[in-house]
Amino acid sequence: MRTRFAPSPTGPLHLGHAFSALTAARLAKEAQGSFLLRIEDIDQSRARAHWEAQIYDDLHWLGLTWPTPVMRQSDRMPVYRAALQKLWDQGLLYPCACTRRDIDAALSAPQEGALHYGPDGPIYPGTCRDKPRPTQLPEGQSLRLDMEKAIQHLPETLSFTETGPLHEDTQILRISDAPETLGDIVLARRDMGTSYHLSVVLDDADQDITHVTRGADLFEATQIHVVLQALLNLPTPIYHHHALVRDENGKRLAKRDDARAIALYRSEGKTPQDIATLTGATLP
Ligand code: GLU
Repeated sequence: MRTRFAPSPTGPLHLGHAFSALTAARLAKEAQGSFLLRIEDIDQSRARAHWEAQIYDDLHWLGLTWPTPVMRQSDRMPVYRAALQKLWDQGLLYPCACTRRDIDAALSAPQEGALHYGPDGPIYPGTCRDKPRPTQLPEGQSLRLDMEKAIQHLPETLSFTETGPLHEDTQILRISDAPETLGDIVLARRDMGTSYHLSVVLDDADQDITHVTRGADLFEATQIHVVLQALLNLPTPIYHHHALVRDENGKRLAKRDDARAIALYRSEGKTPQDIATLTGATLP
């Protein structure tokens, strides 16, 4: 059993992160497995070395340890590119030049009918899907998965096992629904050359992750991940989506909420046990 905590170094770790990391470490310990760390820094416009250093420092302070060297997404661009190339060669990707505003305008056109939302927001209306495609995999452009074409490579259903407290343990996806429920998701962002969804499935596979531990906010996105695993011949791990830590008003603790940064609790003299108590987690 191998699980992981995969923070983005774009801000301080807050209580929600602490809960997630401690939950993953507890599950690993209970199963006599391994707890791994991964730095999700594909968004180089927001990632900062000092936030990464703070992540290591806060997690060590909580009593967590992990194998090194730590996987960092920014070191793995060739792996992501190779996966895009594979999908491109199968005719499953197309470049998309739409801005958010173009998409909103297309979706509000009268003939569009009911708006559908997927894990990434409104389902893309397909504006760029039928434009002539370049012969080579383009660089510096957004790339979308052509879901209608992709599902022809997939079985009728896919499934994954969920062990978290909030959902049924077997999750079944009807693949014929994917164009409507997931849509043509972006697999490479123009400014990044990859996307969270593409990178996370490749990274989990390359780290031999058997159990993905993360917040319930990513439960819906798991459908995208299972589709990508099937298209890229990657194993589907077991998933554990834990409840999100909320403040006293029931509001989710946002990453940017500096008032809740672990570093702030530390500077006030709080102990790791205080953090565990505040979040309902247990220390390793
Ligand atoms: N990097 C993501 C985050 O910080 C976590 C993604 C995951 O665990 O799959 O929210």
